[in-house]
Amino acid sequence: MPMRMDEVFETLRQYQEMLSKRVELEKQLEAMPKTIEIQNQMLSREKKSFSEVKEQYEISEASLKELRQALGEAEMKRENAEKQMDGITTQREYDSVNKEIREASEKEQELRRRIQEEERRFADIDDRLHRIEISVSTLESEIAQKRAEIDENSKEISDDVEKLKTEENDLTRDLDEDLKFKFERIIRSKSGMGIVPIHGVVCTGCHMILPANFVNEVRQADKIVFCPYCSRILYYEETETDESMEEILTGSLVDLNDEETEEVEDSESNDETDDTSGKSKRGSARKKKVQSEPLIDNDFLVDTMDE
Ligand SMILES: [Zn+2]
Repeated sequence: MPMRMDEVFETLRQYQEMLSKRVELEKQLEAMPKTIEIQNQMLSREKKSFSEVKEQYEISEASLKELRQALGEAEMKRENAEKQMDGITTQREYDSVNKEIREASEKEQELRRRIQEEERRFADIDDRLHRIEISVSTLESEIAQKRAEIDENSKEISDDVEKLKTEENDLTRDLDEDLKFKFERIIRSKSGMGIVPIHGVVCTGCHMILPANFVNEVRQADKIVFCPYCSRILYYEETETDESMEEILTGSLVDLNDEETEEVEDSESNDETDDTSGKSKRGSARKKKVQSEPLIDNDFLVDTMDE
């Protein structure tokens, strides 16, 4: 036996609640890995700079080794020359050895200066390397901790999603598959609202004024009707503004007794001193607006053809 329309609407409303919940949970699931994206980016940057600094470290280390070796050689050369001094007999020999000592000493000094410089550079690099190492290990443990949290939460949320899916299937067993598919798509694209009432002649989902014959279709409630503007499923709901809507639909001003709903609007338009005439003006103005739409289109057509 097919479902009655009021049952379909009620089912859709319940389905909407479950779907919105599920869509929200699925969004959370999707967003979760993104929470460690920044840390992951930072980590890969740190790792990259680690390998760059490590390279500088090795270069500096090698050049220190070279400089120290050169210093050792210069020292040895000077010491040898100093030893030769003891066996010197002529001025010429003295001058030559003395020159050797002087040159070796100068070289020693120069090398010591460069070693000091390189040692400072090396210490600086070493310091940077340590800081990066700490940063890397901090980030790694942060990421690991967060990943564990994400896994745990994801598990919980996934379970909730599965539970909801089962409930949804139970609820919508008698609904048309095509309708279910469309409805879920609407819910996803319209931030959780897929079935909305019309108030008067207005879709409460998108606040557009709907054509009169369309509103009548919705009121008949014998089929599923989608809003032509926002695609939401529409159902009819009685409201206080329905009487003025009635005027528009029937084209007659039958009932002017409902003062309360109109009073606020009236106080805004001071030129309309006569309450009743003001109301009928508005009524016919609205009526005109709905009915004259095709005329406006025709005028437009004529205008463009003239050009
Ligand atoms: Zn709409």
